[in-house]
Amino acid sequence: MTKDKPSPRQSLAVFPGSFDPITNGHLDIVERGLRVFDRVRTAILMNPEKKPLFSIDERVKLIRDTYADEPRVEIDTFSGLLVDYAEKVGATVILRGIRAISDFEFEFQMALMNRRLNPAIETVFMMPAESYSYVSSRLVKEIFQLGGRVSDLVPPVVERRLCEVFGTPIPPDSPSGPRGTP
Ligand code: ADP
Repeated sequence: MTKDKPSPRQSLAVFPGSFDPITNGHLDIVERGLRVFDRVRTAILMNPEKKPLFSIDERVKLIRDTYADEPRVEIDTFSGLLVDYAEKVGATVILRGIRAISDFEFEFQMALMNRRLNPAIETVFMMPAESYSYVSSRLVKEIFQLGGRVSDLVPPVVERRLCEVFGTPIPPDSPSGPRGTP
């Protein structure tokens, strides 16, 4: 006689960050996260010390629009300790992207501190495709303001919003799908 297996709990990973705005580098990490975890929750840190380009509501909307067709990606905001937030929402994993060695030192320190604060929550690092390893929200904003094209660096909804914010015409060949797919 075989014993009924207990139904496994759905795994949830929290992917925290500023997402000002979300870039294809973030999307790459979310996609990789979805291969390992049942759900990935992008969680925007409400940090009053940072001067963002996009308000929290706008950042939430950009992520929501990007993942309108993907129910396994959730979107939320949080303040306070990340491990407290993760525990509150039932996540067992903090997902972070590592672009280069320069990210590593800070991320390593944060991961160890978070482990000390709550040993039940594991930090998992993922590497993006090489083509996104130099993409950051800050660079995207700088390039766009200097007149460079960012179509390959951000989802179409973000490019359109950048055009609106800076009063630039929307490129005619901008893809229509939420994540750059036709
Ligand atoms: P923060 O303000 O915490 O750096 P970000 O929004 O810049 O927040 O990044 C959130 C997470 O996404 C971090 O783990 C960061 O390393 C990761 N990330 C950002 N851009 C990329 C990228 N191009 N490739 C891989 N990971 C990335």
